[in-house]
Amino acid sequence: MNIILFGPPGAGKGTQAKYLVNKLNGFQISTGDMLREEIKKDSEIGKKIINDMSEGKFVNDEIVNKLIENVIFDPQKKNNLIFDGYPRSLSQAKNLDALIEESKQKIDLIFFLNVNKDTIIKRIKKRKVLEKRSDDDLNTILKRYDTYMDTTKPVLDFYSQNSNFHEIDGTHEIDEITSKIDVFINV
Ligand code: AMP
Repeated sequence: MNIILFGPPGAGKGTQAKYLVNKLNGFQISTGDMLREEIKKDSEIGKKIINDMSEGKFVNDEIVNKLIENVIFDPQKKNNLIFDGYPRSLSQAKNLDALIEESKQKIDLIFFLNVNKDTIIKRIKKRKVLEKRSDDDLNTILKRYDTYMDTTKPVLDFYSQNSNFHEIDGTHEIDEITSKIDVFINV
């Protein structure tokens, strides 16, 4: 099963992705984690993206698209992909559609975890203490939220037409969100 988890930073995509990975024996495709890994390795990509990432800006589509391409065509992972944080722009969504078609797969479910700004600010402040992420300070959070709203709204419009698109109230507790997701998985 291929699933997209969609929603602003702090919506709980990573948490639900990990749950789904466990439940479905799937593979989490977190572009945020992949990009942080490039920075850690101090790779060419890492050097290019470090400023944008620490300022809460989106990394260039070309870089992110390239990173996910290998995963989509990986025979070990095919049909078991849990997308967390990709796509985030209309061009990424169109790129994903094309790659999924080219690799003879389909997207089975799209979940939009909808969370308001206040909840996100509270959650990310907590995460900063737990995970010590440099892009989790308040100004960067607000910037990331605004960037998300500007760039991701068209993606939402693009997907919300699909019959496999489900909006879920992401302000609830983790377990409640999980059980709402489960309704569509356990059919
Ligand atoms: P995340 O871990 O998903 O919250 O992502 C952290 C940061 O990584 C974002 O604020 C962006 O700078 C960058 N990033 C992650 N995924 C993408 C993407 N699909 N497109 C562009 N930038 C991304």
